[in-house]
Amino acid sequence: MMDLSYILNELGEERADYFNAVSPPIAQTSNFSFKTVDDFRQALSGEFDVNLYSRGNNPTINILRQKLAALDGAEDALVFGSGIAAIAVPILALVRQGDHIISVENPYSWTTKLFNNLLPQFGVETTFVDGTEVKNFENAIRPNTKLIYLESPNTFSYDLQDLQAVAAIAKQKGILTMIDNSYCSPLYQQPIKLGIDLVAQSATKYIGGHSDVVAGVLTGSRALIKQIFSNEYLNIGPALSPHSAWLLIRGLRTLPLRLQRSFESTKVITEWLRGHPAVDRVIWPFSPDFKQSELAHRQMQGCGGLFSFTLKEPSVEKIEAFCNKLQHILMAVSWGGHESLIIPAVATIKKEDYDAGNERHNLIRMYVGLEDKEYLVSDLEQALS
Ligand SMILES: *Cc1c(COP(=O)(O)O)cnc(C)c1O
Repeated sequence: MMDLSYILNELGEERADYFNAVSPPIAQTSNFSFKTVDDFRQALSGEFDVNLYSRGNNPTINILRQKLAALDGAEDALVFGSGIAAIAVPILALVRQGDHIISVENPYSWTTKLFNNLLPQFGVETTFVDGTEVKNFENAIRPNTKLIYLESPNTFSYDLQDLQAVAAIAKQKGILTMIDNSYCSPLYQQPIKLGIDLVAQSATKYIGGHSDVVAGVLTGSRALIKQIFSNEYLNIGPALSPHSAWLLIRGLRTLPLRLQRSFESTKVITEWLRGHPAVDRVIWPFSPDFKQSELAHRQMQGCGGLFSFTLKEPSVEKIEAFCNKLQHILMAVSWGGHESLIIPAVATIKKEDYDAGNERHNLIRMYVGLEDKEYLVSDLEQALS
Protein backbone atom coordinates (compact mmCIF):
# COMPACT_ATOMS: atom_id res chain seq x y z
CA MET A 1 0.00 0.00 0.00
CA MET A 2 1.39 3.39 -1.04
CA ASP A 3 1.61 6.17 1.53
CA LEU A 4 -1.29 8.60 1.33
CA SER A 5 1.20 11.50 1.36
CA TYR A 6 3.08 9.99 -1.59
CA ILE A 7 -0.15 9.55 -3.59
CA LEU A 8 -1.34 13.11 -2.97
CA ASN A 9 2.01 14.89 -3.39
CA GLU A 10 4.09 12.86 -5.83
CA LEU A 11 2.44 9.97 -7.65
CA GLY A 12 2.15 10.60 -11.39
CA GLU A 13 4.02 13.90 -11.23
CA GLU A 14 7.07 13.71 -13.51
CA ARG A 15 8.28 17.20 -12.62
CA ALA A 16 11.52 16.95 -14.61
CA ASP A 17 9.34 16.80 -17.75
CA TYR A 18 7.92 20.27 -17.10
CA PHE A 19 10.61 22.63 -15.74
CA ASN A 20 10.45 21.05 -12.24
CA ALA A 21 7.26 22.99 -11.68
CA VAL A 22 5.69 21.87 -8.40
CA SER A 23 2.15 22.33 -9.69
CA PRO A 24 1.55 20.29 -12.84
CA PRO A 25 0.85 22.04 -16.15
CA ILE A 26 -2.65 22.15 -17.60
CA ALA A 27 -2.20 20.41 -20.96
CA GLN A 28 -4.88 22.54 -22.61
CA THR A 29 -4.77 20.78 -25.96
CA SER A 30 -7.29 18.75 -27.90
CA ASN A 31 -4.79 16.73 -29.98
CA PHE A 32 -1.23 15.37 -29.99
CA SER A 33 1.12 15.10 -32.98
CA PHE A 34 3.25 12.20 -34.27
CA LYS A 35 6.62 12.13 -36.07
CA THR A 36 6.05 9.03 -38.20
CA VAL A 37 3.07 7.33 -39.86
CA ASP A 38 4.01 4.17 -37.99
CA ASP A 39 3.64 5.84 -34.57
CA PHE A 40 0.45 7.55 -35.72
CA ARG A 41 -1.05 4.26 -37.00
CA GLN A 42 -0.15 2.55 -33.72
CA ALA A 43 -1.95 5.24 -31.69
CA LEU A 44 -5.01 5.17 -33.95
CA SER A 45 -5.31 1.40 -33.53
CA GLY A 46 -5.89 1.77 -29.78
CA GLU A 47 -5.47 4.89 -27.69
CA PHE A 48 -5.71 3.42 -24.19
CA ASP A 49 -1.99 3.90 -23.50
CA VAL A 50 -1.13 6.92 -25.67
CA ASN A 51 -1.94 10.60 -25.97
CA LEU A 52 -3.85 10.96 -29.24
CA TYR A 53 -6.89 13.12 -28.56
CA SER A 54 -8.15 14.63 -25.28
CA ARG A 55 -11.53 12.88 -25.47
CA GLY A 56 -9.40 9.91 -24.42
CA ASN A 57 -6.02 10.53 -22.79
CA ASN A 58 -4.47 13.82 -21.71
CA PRO A 59 -1.33 14.28 -19.56
CA THR A 60 -3.03 16.37 -16.84
CA ILE A 61 -5.93 13.91 -16.71
CA ASN A 62 -3.46 11.02 -16.47
CA ILE A 63 -1.79 12.44 -13.36
CA LEU A 64 -5.21 12.63 -11.75
CA ARG A 65 -6.16 9.10 -12.85
CA GLN A 66 -3.07 7.58 -11.25
CA LYS A 67 -3.76 9.31 -7.95
CA LEU A 68 -7.44 8.35 -7.88
CA ALA A 69 -6.73 4.70 -8.75
CA ALA A 70 -4.13 4.49 -5.97
CA LEU A 71 -6.49 6.08 -3.42
CA ASP A 72 -9.08 3.37 -4.14
CA GLY A 73 -6.48 0.58 -4.21
CA ALA A 74 -7.59 -0.02 -7.81
CA GLU A 75 -5.58 -0.91 -10.92
CA ASP A 76 -6.88 2.01 -12.95
CA ALA A 77 -9.30 4.94 -12.98
CA LEU A 78 -11.26 7.02 -15.46
CA VAL A 79 -12.44 10.57 -14.87
CA PHE A 80 -15.64 12.05 -16.25
CA GLY A 81 -17.27 15.44 -16.77
CA SER A 82 -19.74 14.68 -13.93
CA GLY A 83 -20.41 12.14 -11.21
CA ILE A 84 -23.53 10.89 -12.97
CA ALA A 85 -21.49 10.23 -16.14
CA ALA A 86 -19.14 8.08 -14.03
CA ILE A 87 -22.23 6.07 -13.05
CA ALA A 88 -24.25 6.01 -16.30
CA VAL A 89 -21.42 5.30 -18.76
CA PRO A 90 -20.08 2.13 -17.06
CA ILE A 91 -23.61 0.81 -16.51
CA LEU A 92 -24.38 1.31 -20.21
CA ALA A 93 -21.14 -0.57 -20.90
CA LEU A 94 -21.97 -3.53 -18.67
CA VAL A 95 -25.56 -4.38 -19.64
CA ARG A 96 -27.25 -5.54 -22.84
CA GLN A 97 -30.89 -5.76 -23.97
CA GLY A 98 -32.71 -8.31 -21.80
CA ASP A 99 -30.36 -7.97 -18.84
CA HIS A 100 -31.42 -7.37 -15.25
CA ILE A 101 -29.92 -5.11 -12.57
CA ILE A 102 -30.46 -5.23 -8.81
CA SER A 103 -30.07 -1.82 -7.19
CA VAL A 104 -30.28 -0.71 -3.60
CA GLU A 105 -33.48 1.34 -3.13
CA ASN A 106 -33.43 5.15 -3.37
CA PRO A 107 -30.00 5.71 -4.90
CA TYR A 108 -29.00 9.26 -5.98
CA SER A 109 -31.90 10.92 -7.87
CA TRP A 110 -30.38 10.78 -11.37
CA THR A 111 -29.22 7.20 -10.81
CA THR A 112 -32.85 6.34 -10.02
CA LYS A 113 -33.90 8.04 -13.28
CA LEU A 114 -31.26 6.08 -15.19
CA PHE A 115 -32.75 2.81 -13.91
CA ASN A 116 -36.40 3.89 -14.28
CA ASN A 117 -36.37 5.93 -17.49
CA LEU A 118 -33.27 5.49 -19.65
CA LEU A 119 -32.34 1.81 -19.29
CA PRO A 120 -35.90 0.49 -19.94
CA GLN A 121 -35.64 2.15 -23.40
CA PHE A 122 -32.92 -0.40 -24.13
CA GLY A 123 -34.74 -3.36 -22.60
CA VAL A 124 -32.86 -3.40 -19.29
CA GLU A 125 -34.93 -3.94 -16.15
CA THR A 126 -33.98 -2.96 -12.57
CA THR A 127 -35.27 -4.36 -9.27
CA PHE A 128 -34.84 -2.13 -6.21
CA VAL A 129 -34.26 -3.81 -2.85
CA ASP A 130 -33.94 -2.73 0.77
CA GLY A 131 -30.16 -3.03 1.07
CA THR A 132 -30.02 -3.26 4.86
CA GLU A 133 -30.63 -7.05 4.59
CA VAL A 134 -28.10 -8.98 2.50
CA LYS A 135 -30.64 -11.72 1.74
CA ASN A 136 -32.77 -9.21 -0.22
CA PHE A 137 -30.03 -9.07 -2.88
CA GLU A 138 -29.74 -12.86 -2.95
CA ASN A 139 -33.51 -13.30 -3.30
CA ALA A 140 -33.71 -10.82 -6.21
CA ILE A 141 -31.10 -12.60 -8.37
CA ARG A 142 -32.41 -13.92 -11.71
CA PRO A 143 -30.61 -15.92 -14.42
CA ASN A 144 -30.18 -12.66 -16.42
CA THR A 145 -28.90 -10.50 -13.52
CA LYS A 146 -25.67 -8.82 -14.67
CA LEU A 147 -25.07 -6.12 -12.09
CA ILE A 148 -25.67 -5.37 -8.42
CA TYR A 149 -25.60 -1.63 -7.79
CA LEU A 150 -24.92 -0.20 -4.31
CA GLU A 151 -24.75 3.21 -2.64
CA SER A 152 -23.53 3.03 0.93
CA PRO A 153 -24.32 5.12 2.83
CA ASN A 154 -27.22 6.64 0.95
CA THR A 155 -26.98 10.45 1.08
CA PHE A 156 -30.45 11.22 2.53
CA SER A 157 -31.35 8.27 4.79
CA TYR A 158 -27.79 6.89 5.28
CA ASP A 159 -28.85 3.23 4.91
CA LEU A 160 -25.80 0.98 4.56
CA GLN A 161 -25.17 -2.25 2.72
CA ASP A 162 -22.72 -4.91 3.94
CA LEU A 163 -20.28 -4.54 1.05
CA GLN A 164 -18.20 -7.62 1.75
CA ALA A 165 -21.24 -9.90 2.09
CA VAL A 166 -22.98 -8.58 -1.05
CA ALA A 167 -19.73 -8.82 -3.06
CA ALA A 168 -19.26 -12.45 -1.95
CA ILE A 169 -22.77 -13.43 -3.09
CA ALA A 170 -22.32 -11.66 -6.43
CA LYS A 171 -18.91 -13.29 -7.08
CA GLN A 172 -20.38 -16.73 -6.47
CA LYS A 173 -23.00 -16.06 -9.17
CA GLY A 174 -20.68 -14.29 -11.63
CA ILE A 175 -22.49 -10.96 -11.21
CA LEU A 176 -20.56 -7.66 -11.29
CA THR A 177 -20.87 -5.22 -8.39
CA MET A 178 -20.64 -1.44 -8.51
CA ILE A 179 -20.95 1.19 -5.78
CA ASP A 180 -21.47 4.93 -5.56
CA ASN A 181 -18.84 5.77 -2.90
CA SER A 182 -19.35 9.56 -2.93
CA TYR A 183 -20.37 9.79 0.73
CA CYS A 184 -17.19 8.33 2.23
CA SER A 185 -14.60 9.10 -0.45
CA PRO A 186 -11.67 6.68 -0.71
CA LEU A 187 -10.28 7.95 2.60
CA TYR A 188 -13.16 6.58 4.66
CA GLN A 189 -14.27 3.53 2.66
CA GLN A 190 -12.40 1.30 0.22
CA PRO A 191 -14.92 -0.95 -1.49
CA ILE A 192 -12.42 -2.65 -3.82
CA LYS A 193 -10.68 -4.18 -0.80
CA LEU A 194 -14.08 -5.58 0.24
CA GLY A 195 -14.56 -7.26 -3.16
CA ILE A 196 -16.59 -4.67 -5.10
CA ASP A 197 -15.67 -4.53 -8.84
CA LEU A 198 -16.30 -0.89 -9.79
CA VAL A 199 -16.31 2.22 -7.62
CA ALA A 200 -17.88 5.47 -8.81
CA GLN A 201 -17.91 8.78 -7.01
CA SER A 202 -18.91 12.34 -7.66
CA ALA A 203 -15.61 14.26 -7.59
CA THR A 204 -17.74 17.41 -7.47
CA LYS A 205 -18.05 16.70 -3.74
CA TYR A 206 -15.00 15.95 -1.56
CA ILE A 207 -12.32 15.54 -4.24
CA GLY A 208 -12.90 18.99 -5.75
CA GLY A 209 -13.91 20.33 -2.36
CA HIS A 210 -14.35 23.99 -3.31
CA SER A 211 -17.70 24.00 -5.16
CA ASP A 212 -16.04 25.07 -8.39
CA VAL A 213 -15.92 21.95 -10.56
CA VAL A 214 -18.34 19.19 -11.66
CA ALA A 215 -16.59 15.84 -12.20
CA GLY A 216 -16.76 12.08 -11.62
CA VAL A 217 -14.42 9.14 -11.00
CA LEU A 218 -14.64 5.43 -11.79
CA THR A 219 -12.08 2.91 -10.56
CA GLY A 220 -11.68 -0.83 -11.09
CA SER A 221 -9.54 -3.51 -12.71
CA ARG A 222 -7.35 -2.59 -15.69
CA ALA A 223 -9.37 -4.98 -17.89
CA LEU A 224 -12.77 -3.47 -17.03
CA ILE A 225 -11.48 0.12 -17.23
CA LYS A 226 -9.84 -0.57 -20.61
CA GLN A 227 -13.04 -2.14 -21.95
CA ILE A 228 -15.14 0.84 -20.83
CA PHE A 229 -12.56 3.39 -22.08
CA SER A 230 -12.16 1.79 -25.52
CA ASN A 231 -15.89 1.61 -26.18
CA GLU A 232 -18.50 3.64 -24.26
CA TYR A 233 -16.11 6.25 -22.79
CA LEU A 234 -14.76 7.26 -26.21
CA ASN A 235 -18.13 6.80 -27.89
CA ILE A 236 -20.33 8.78 -25.50
CA GLY A 237 -17.59 11.36 -24.83
CA PRO A 238 -17.90 12.30 -21.13
CA ALA A 239 -14.27 13.49 -20.85
CA LEU A 240 -13.27 16.02 -18.20
CA SER A 241 -11.49 19.21 -19.27
CA PRO A 242 -7.74 19.44 -18.43
CA HIS A 243 -8.43 22.56 -16.38
CA SER A 244 -11.02 20.76 -14.24
CA ALA A 245 -8.54 17.87 -13.79
CA TRP A 246 -5.99 20.38 -12.50
CA LEU A 247 -8.54 21.72 -9.99
CA LEU A 248 -9.15 18.18 -8.76
CA ILE A 249 -5.40 17.53 -8.35
CA ARG A 250 -5.26 20.71 -6.27
CA GLY A 251 -8.29 19.56 -4.27
CA LEU A 252 -6.60 16.24 -3.50
CA ARG A 253 -3.68 17.99 -1.76
CA THR A 254 -5.96 19.01 1.12
CA LEU A 255 -8.51 16.16 1.02
CA PRO A 256 -7.41 14.53 4.32
CA LEU A 257 -7.45 17.87 6.16
CA ARG A 258 -10.84 18.90 4.83
CA LEU A 259 -12.46 15.53 5.51
CA GLN A 260 -11.10 15.37 9.03
CA ARG A 261 -12.31 18.88 9.79
CA SER A 262 -15.79 18.15 8.42
CA PHE A 263 -15.93 14.81 10.32
CA GLU A 264 -14.88 16.39 13.65
CA SER A 265 -17.33 19.31 13.31
CA THR A 266 -20.15 16.95 12.34
CA LYS A 267 -19.61 14.90 15.53
CA VAL A 268 -20.11 18.05 17.61
CA ILE A 269 -23.02 19.45 15.59
CA THR A 270 -24.97 16.17 15.48
CA GLU A 271 -24.49 15.80 19.26
CA TRP A 272 -25.68 19.34 19.82
CA LEU A 273 -28.76 18.80 17.64
CA ARG A 274 -29.56 15.51 19.42
CA GLY A 275 -29.78 17.47 22.66
CA HIS A 276 -31.95 20.31 21.28
CA PRO A 277 -35.61 20.27 22.44
CA ALA A 278 -36.96 21.21 18.96
CA VAL A 279 -35.15 18.32 17.24
CA ASP A 280 -36.71 14.87 17.00
CA ARG A 281 -34.18 12.60 15.27
CA VAL A 282 -30.63 12.93 13.95
CA ILE A 283 -29.46 10.39 11.38
CA TRP A 284 -25.69 10.06 10.90
CA PRO A 285 -23.86 6.73 10.50
CA PHE A 286 -21.40 7.46 13.34
CA SER A 287 -24.07 8.56 15.85
CA PRO A 288 -24.24 6.17 18.81
CA ASP A 289 -27.95 5.46 18.16
CA PHE A 290 -27.57 4.83 14.40
CA LYS A 291 -29.42 1.61 13.54
CA GLN A 292 -26.50 0.10 11.57
CA SER A 293 -23.79 1.48 13.85
CA GLU A 294 -21.86 -1.80 14.10
CA LEU A 295 -21.67 -2.18 10.30
CA ALA A 296 -20.78 1.50 9.87
CA HIS A 297 -17.77 1.16 12.19
CA ARG A 298 -16.78 -2.16 10.59
CA GLN A 299 -16.60 -0.98 6.98
CA MET A 300 -16.03 2.78 7.25
CA GLN A 301 -12.84 4.36 8.62
CA GLY A 302 -14.55 7.69 9.16
CA CYS A 303 -17.80 9.46 8.39
CA GLY A 304 -18.76 12.21 6.01
CA GLY A 305 -20.12 15.59 7.03
CA LEU A 306 -23.55 14.91 5.58
CA PHE A 307 -26.43 14.00 7.92
CA SER A 308 -30.18 14.45 8.22
CA PHE A 309 -32.47 15.46 11.06
CA THR A 310 -36.17 15.97 11.73
CA LEU A 311 -38.03 18.52 13.83
CA LYS A 312 -40.53 17.63 16.55
CA GLU A 313 -44.18 17.85 15.38
CA PRO A 314 -43.07 18.68 11.84
CA SER A 315 -45.04 20.65 9.27
CA VAL A 316 -44.11 22.27 5.95
CA GLU A 317 -44.48 25.70 7.57
CA LYS A 318 -42.19 24.80 10.47
CA ILE A 319 -39.51 23.27 8.23
CA GLU A 320 -39.64 26.21 5.83
CA ALA A 321 -39.49 28.79 8.63
CA PHE A 322 -36.38 27.12 10.06
CA CYS A 323 -34.58 26.97 6.71
CA ASN A 324 -35.57 30.50 5.69
CA LYS A 325 -34.16 31.84 8.97
CA LEU A 326 -30.62 30.50 8.48
CA GLN A 327 -28.13 33.32 8.04
CA HIS A 328 -24.88 31.55 7.12
CA ILE A 329 -25.73 27.98 6.22
CA LEU A 330 -26.64 28.15 2.54
CA MET A 331 -29.66 26.56 0.90
CA ALA A 332 -28.28 24.80 -2.17
CA VAL A 333 -27.86 21.38 -3.79
CA SER A 334 -24.58 19.46 -3.70
CA TRP A 335 -22.16 19.11 -0.75
CA GLY A 336 -18.50 18.36 -0.07
CA GLY A 337 -17.27 21.94 -0.51
CA HIS A 338 -15.96 24.52 1.95
CA GLU A 339 -19.44 25.86 2.71
CA SER A 340 -22.14 24.39 4.91
CA LEU A 341 -25.43 23.64 3.20
CA ILE A 342 -28.98 22.68 3.96
CA ILE A 343 -31.67 21.05 1.84
CA PRO A 344 -35.08 20.16 3.28
CA ALA A 345 -36.79 17.18 1.61
CA VAL A 346 -39.93 19.34 1.28
CA ALA A 347 -38.06 21.39 -1.33
CA THR A 348 -37.90 18.26 -3.52
CA ILE A 349 -41.67 17.63 -3.55
CA LYS A 350 -44.82 19.63 -4.35
CA LYS A 351 -46.20 21.38 -1.26
CA GLU A 352 -49.57 19.66 -1.65
CA ASP A 353 -47.90 16.23 -1.70
CA TYR A 354 -46.39 16.74 1.77
CA ASP A 355 -47.36 14.02 4.23
CA ALA A 356 -46.39 14.75 7.86
CA GLY A 357 -46.53 11.02 8.61
CA ASN A 358 -43.90 10.20 5.95
CA GLU A 359 -40.47 10.41 7.61
CA ARG A 360 -38.73 10.96 4.25
CA HIS A 361 -40.74 14.17 3.72
CA ASN A 362 -39.58 15.54 7.07
CA LEU A 363 -35.86 15.03 6.60
CA ILE A 364 -33.66 18.12 6.60
CA ARG A 365 -30.26 17.31 5.16
CA MET A 366 -27.26 19.30 6.32
CA TYR A 367 -23.70 19.28 5.05
CA VAL A 368 -21.04 20.52 7.46
CA GLY A 369 -18.33 22.49 5.68
CA LEU A 370 -15.12 24.08 6.92
CA GLU A 371 -16.51 26.99 8.96
CA ASP A 372 -15.95 27.06 12.75
CA LYS A 373 -18.36 24.64 14.39
CA GLU A 374 -19.45 27.28 16.93
CA TYR A 375 -20.36 29.62 14.06
CA LEU A 376 -22.58 26.89 12.57
CA VAL A 377 -24.15 25.96 15.90
CA SER A 378 -25.10 29.58 16.58
CA ASP A 379 -26.75 29.83 13.15
CA LEU A 380 -28.73 26.63 13.82
CA GLU A 381 -29.64 27.85 17.31
CA GLN A 382 -31.14 31.17 16.18
CA ALA A 383 -33.05 29.44 13.36
CA LEU A 384 -34.47 26.76 15.69
CA SER A 385 -35.62 29.30 18.32
C1 LIG B 1 -23.76 14.55 -6.41
C2 LIG B 1 -23.92 13.08 -6.41
C3 LIG B 1 -23.90 12.33 -7.60
C4 LIG B 1 -23.81 12.98 -8.96
O1 LIG B 1 -22.63 13.64 -9.15
P1 LIG B 1 -22.52 14.93 -10.12
O2 LIG B 1 -21.08 15.27 -10.02
O3 LIG B 1 -23.44 15.96 -9.57
O4 LIG B 1 -22.95 14.49 -11.49
C5 LIG B 1 -24.00 10.97 -7.51
N1 LIG B 1 -24.13 10.35 -6.33
C6 LIG B 1 -24.15 11.02 -5.16
C7 LIG B 1 -24.28 10.28 -3.89
C8 LIG B 1 -24.05 12.41 -5.16
O5 LIG B 1 -24.11 13.08 -4.00
